[in-house]
Formats: sequence, structure tokens, C-alpha cells
Amino acid sequence: MSIPSSFIDQLIDQADIVEVVGRRLQLNKKGSNFWCLCPFHDDSNPSMAVNQDKQFFYCFVCQESGNAIHFLRQYENLDFVDAIETLASSLGLTVPYENGKQDRMKPSGLVEQAVRFYQKNLNDQIAKKAIQYLKDRSITGETAKKFNIGFAEDKWDALSNHLGKDIPVNELEASGLFSHKDNKFYDRFRGRIIFPIRNIKGEFIAMGGRIIDEGEPKYLNSPETAFFNKSNELFGLFEVKEAEKKIASLIVVEGYMDVIGLYQHGIKNAVATLGTAVTPSHVAKIMRYTNKIFFAFDGDLAGGKAAWKAVENTFPIIREDVNIHFVFFEADHDPDSFINEYGLQAFQKLLDESISLSEYFLSKIKDFNLETLEGRAQAAAFAIPVIHKINNAVIKEIYANEVSQLCGMDVKTMHVPQDSYKTNQKANQNPANPVIPVRVKALINIFSALLKHPALAQEEIFKGLKEDVKFTFLFDVIALYQQSPDIKPSRVLESLESSQIQGYFSQAVIAELDLSEENALKLIEDCINVLLKNQKDREQILKDKYNVTSITKVERRDLQKIILNKEEISDDDRDWLKKLSSNQD
Ligand SMILES: [Zn+2]
Repeated sequence: MSIPSSFIDQLIDQADIVEVVGRRLQLNKKGSNFWCLCPFHDDSNPSMAVNQDKQFFYCFVCQESGNAIHFLRQYENLDFVDAIETLASSLGLTVPYENGKQDRMKPSGLVEQAVRFYQKNLNDQIAKKAIQYLKDRSITGETAKKFNIGFAEDKWDALSNHLGKDIPVNELEASGLFSHKDNKFYDRFRGRIIFPIRNIKGEFIAMGGRIIDEGEPKYLNSPETAFFNKSNELFGLFEVKEAEKKIASLIVVEGYMDVIGLYQHGIKNAVATLGTAVTPSHVAKIMRYTNKIFFAFDGDLAGGKAAWKAVENTFPIIREDVNIHFVFFEADHDPDSFINEYGLQAFQKLLDESISLSEYFLSKIKDFNLETLEGRAQAAAFAIPVIHKINNAVIKEIYANEVSQLCGMDVKTMHVPQDSYKTNQKANQNPANPVIPVRVKALINIFSALLKHPALAQEEIFKGLKEDVKFTFLFDVIALYQQSPDIKPSRVLESLESSQIQGYFSQAVIAELDLSEENALKLIEDCINVLLKNQKDREQILKDKYNVTSITKVERRDLQKIILNKEEISDDDRDWLKKLSSNQD
């Protein structure tokens, strides 16, 4: 499945980067840009500019940059498709996936075939015990059908026999449905109730199985495959989304049976992580569909740990418009057993009485002995690195103030141990004086001139740089401006492959040089000369290196290319070419 580029154009067109960034970070308008603390390096003065006209962001310190899609990918750690989904859902658009094009991430059709096969098995002849198990948990046939629950017989080859012999080995392998040993494929799921797992598009991507008789493990999941990444998926999310266009709230639980049990009793908005702790991608995904989240955990020690993990993974991307609550069950109960025993109203009451994220966080601080200086110091030491994970300035301020009050010291002015910062090597540059090589400056200036006067793309002047593969991207950009002079910078950015070049381009967009057409042309000329001179310098450096020591194969090829690209090749050049081609190692 792929996303049509026309839809991406539409998204870029309709999305507003100020809105996208502003929902997550505190923006202040100054001059033609909005500014905020950069979330991609440890920033103390706002160094990230967000430009509404150009629909770009750029950090002057760590140089992270791009359009709204880039921002989401970096900020919420999303892959391209997830970033598109996030942006689309915030605009109320549905991503129109295209069928047909083969794609590595496309779920294997075998998983769906297996789901249907297992589903048929869930009958009185084959699956007596499984049906009894479901009945004991008051799961009706209707609910079983809703979640496509099935049954895998306790046989090594039931599924492989059903699928037949014509399926290529690599497809069997990729599906995650079999274990492969001594050139034979064995059914992975045996003697288990099957809970199929769907992605947000509704495609079957994996399954979980609960054992029916004695045996280990009690729960078994599909292994990770090209299309199933368990730290990214939530069981039940598709089913909620299918039923509710605008999801009012989501309850995050731990197991499939919790989701299904709650559904059976009328709570139809639960989703489950798949045997992992709540990850940052889970949180980002959930926040994409709702702004009210309940995390439900067991009341024991493990549940407490899991809840804290959820706090830590939520803090970096928390927003003011999102409400997060925690529900803890008494020991010996999980959501499924609780609702079975006490019913819907009791569960609803638990949700009503749930504690908010801030209450939960502050309760952790209050666990320290705040009567003593030592206790307060320990509490502050515990809180500071966690608070520093918050990127949203307003929320950070509130938490810092609360903790300062509890601990009797100003935690805002206290430093975080260095290793708890986000590591970003790019941020190690001196912000006051980032060293920009002339070559890079020249490139940025060319972009600036083109952005201001796209018509200059028609000029002959660029020919000087032609045929050097190093500048292919520049010619791609020029070609774009030749075809459509009023193309949006954001679209140009999407066409650049290298993130480094994207950074330079963004820098030019944000810099917004005010140039007359005449000056812009002059600037381009100068810059091209710089780039060419740079080539000349490189030629001399490589020649010297050749004469004094030796050059690598890559350098040799580079030098050959520089010479061959010259408009006029001198006798001296010819000698060099001869030398370089005869003396190969
Ligand atoms: Zn930055």
C-alpha cells in the first residue's frame, strides 16, 4: 500500500506548521517568524524559528529543519506513514491508501488467510474447550466475531496443510505464522485461542494465542515481521476507530482479553499494548486519535512500574489539550476480571475517580520524606530529570513550580545530569558562532536567490556546475523551478533526498533574503564561482596528495571527474588523466 503523492500535496497545502508545532510547543511571534525552545537539542533561549508563509521550521543551533511532516517525524519519532496519518487525522482527512503497488511493509495475505481458517475452527466439533473458556468469560459469539477470534488445533501442520504446497518459502517465512526447522515449516500456533491483530488500516498483521490446556507460554504473539512492530501497534484500535469517527477517549490496558472483556460489558474504547510496556510511539499514536487517555494498570508492583514507564514516555510529547488519567486495580484484578465481577457501573466509577497525570506524578514526589532536607533533596533529584523531559513550556513550568513548592527549592534553576539530556551531537556546536563552510554558505545563498526569484532558474548561469554528480540535487531543484515557478518551498523540500541538503534549503527559506532580481543573479554568479573554486581547491589538494603520498580509489575517481568536467582540457590535464588511469591499484 502506498499513499498517492497528490494526497501528500494536499496535506502540505492544508496543514499549518504553526498549528502543528504550536499544539506541542509554546510559540511566540517575533518579526516574521514564530519562535520556540527547540525540542531537538537542550535549548535555553528560543532558537527554533517557525515560518508560517513558508510552512517551515528551522533551528539555528542544531539545524534541525523541515516542514510539518518532518517536524512530526522528528518530534514524535514517527515513520513517514505515521506522520502522514497524524497530520491527516488532525485535519479530519482520511489517508487514501493505494492498492496494487508492492511494498515490503504490506502485510502478507497469508495472515488474513490464517485468521479466516482459525475462525472457522472455532466450532463445537474442534474447539469445545476454547468455546467453554470464552463462555466462562461471558464472551458471546457476536463479540468473538467482532474481534475475529479463532482457534488453532494442537497440530503441527493444520495451517500449512490448509494453505497448500504452492506458497513460496520466503512468503511462509515472512508471515510469522510458522517456525522453520530442518527445511520444514511448523504451525507456530497450536492448541490456542487466536486473537488476530489488525493495523490501523484494518489489515491483519499478526496474532496472539492463548493456550487452552496446560502449557507454556500462556500467551504467544507473532514474532516481529516487516509489517508487525509490536512496540508500535495497539490491539483493538482499529475496532474503536471503525465504530467511532471522533474518539472521545481511549483506555489503554495490557491484554487482548481485557479489551474483549470490556467490550463485552459495554466499554468499547479499550486498546491493549502487545506484551510490552507503553512506548513513546504508542503514546504518540493514541494522542493522534483522542485527547483523553486512561492508562489502566494492575495495582501490584509491576503495574506501578509500568505506569511510571508510561509517564516517562508521555512527558516528551505531552500537550496542554490532552488529558491523561491513571486507573489502578486492586491486587488480583485486571480490567477483564474486574468488570466481570463488579459490572459496568463499577468500572465507570473507577474511570470517574481516576487520578490525573499530574496527581500521579506529584504523589511520587510525596512518597519521599519531605519533612527532612535529605528527603526533599532526594525528591528534587528524582523529579528534575523527569521534568526536563517535558518539551511543552507551559506544562513544564507548572510541574516545575509544583515540585519547587513541595521540595522547598527552585528546581527550574537546577541542572539535570548531563546524560539525561537528549543526545544530539549536532547540538554540540557553539550556538553563538556556528562554523558554516563557504561552500555551504554558497549553496544556501543560491537557494535563497532561487526562492526569492524562481524565474532565475531559467538562466544559463548554472551550466558552469553541470555534469558534476555532486550537484545533481541542485539541478533537480532548478528543474522544479523551471517547470513551476510558483512551487511551494515545502514541496521542493520533499524532493530533496539528503537530509543535509534539506537542512541547507530550510536555512535559506527561513533566512528570507530580501534581494532584487539583479542582486539575486549576481549572488548566484558569485556563489557558483565559490563552488567552482572549491572544486579547483579540491583538485590541487588531490594532486598534492597524489604526489606526496597516495590517494584512495574514491579520491582518484573524484580527481578524474574534476578534470573531465573542465570545459577545456589542457595538456597537463591529459597527462594527469593518463597517470590516474594507468596507475590503478
Ligand atoms: Zn535545535
